[in-house]
Amino acid sequence: MAKQNIILKLKKANLLGRGGAGFPTWLKWKLVKKAKAERKFVICNASEGEPGVFKDGFLLEKFPEEVINGMILAMEGLGASEGYVYLNPLYFKKYGKNLKRIIGKKPIILFEKKKGYIGGEETALCEAIEGKRVEPRMKPPYLAEKGLFGFPTLVNNVETFYYASRISRGEYKNTRFYSVNGDIKKPGVFEFSESLTIKEVLKKTNNYPDFDFYVQSGGGAAGEIFLGSELARPVTGAGSITVYDKRKTDPHALMKKWVEFFMKGNCDKCLPCREGLFRLKEMIRKKDLNKEALNEIFFSLEETSFCALGRGAPVPFKSFLKKVMNIDL
Ligand code: SF4
Repeated sequence: MAKQNIILKLKKANLLGRGGAGFPTWLKWKLVKKAKAERKFVICNASEGEPGVFKDGFLLEKFPEEVINGMILAMEGLGASEGYVYLNPLYFKKYGKNLKRIIGKKPIILFEKKKGYIGGEETALCEAIEGKRVEPRMKPPYLAEKGLFGFPTLVNNVETFYYASRISRGEYKNTRFYSVNGDIKKPGVFEFSESLTIKEVLKKTNNYPDFDFYVQSGGGAAGEIFLGSELARPVTGAGSITVYDKRKTDPHALMKKWVEFFMKGNCDKCLPCREGLFRLKEMIRKKDLNKEALNEIFFSLEETSFCALGRGAPVPFKSFLKKVMNIDL
């Protein structure tokens, strides 16, 4: 019975994808179910690799059976005969053996991701499994029509499959997992209502700072910066909160960390991202934050990058420069 009703249950639960984009899970599943093809694939994206985001690793460690069960529900519900778990090298090493044991003889393959953040983008991930250069594809066609090896494919992240499994048993209470970290006393992964504000999460985990601070929410590289007075808002993206002690944090070192993360994790396919990030790094290294040049770099990244990594890269820098460094761009 659960097999027939799982998409309806996901719809009723209103589960949004927990990889960062927040697309309705039931709709993603329905599109793949509707597609007519000889083969279909279900992929669990376990490539989590952004600084400050570690809740999928937590779930693979604590609840791997739920994650695999979520995949099996998807495979059965969508008519997909093959599945992949796409793991970053660290998770492959740490959890691969146990996952293989849980998977047993089911048609699910563990795939070790090559290094680089962009390898976690859903079309780049298909390229990687197909043995091609790891870079995003042009969309459309979307994966629901033409995904892995050209067949309809569902890609969800670890937390989404975990909750699909809980939803199938009627156990979902509109919660999500938060990765809380940075200059705090009690870092960790916490499960709370998805509607909590950043401030409420920090208070509930006894991590609300008593010093001058700012936070980065929704990813410890791509996330936006918020001041202590701006925390009455929900946590977005991949559900992370990173706290920075204003006195202890070197602004240039922090921006250098972000830009190096993007440079290491991008695929170098397109010019605005490849060159723009390089120029940005040079400006940070020289501590020469020329407003006009910064605006040009951010504009070309936002408007002309091929994928979301490049388009979203200015977010932390713009909010940080404005709010913390008081540079009005
Ligand atoms: S914006 Fe371009 S270079 Fe950057 S990751 Fe995307 S496709 Fe690759």
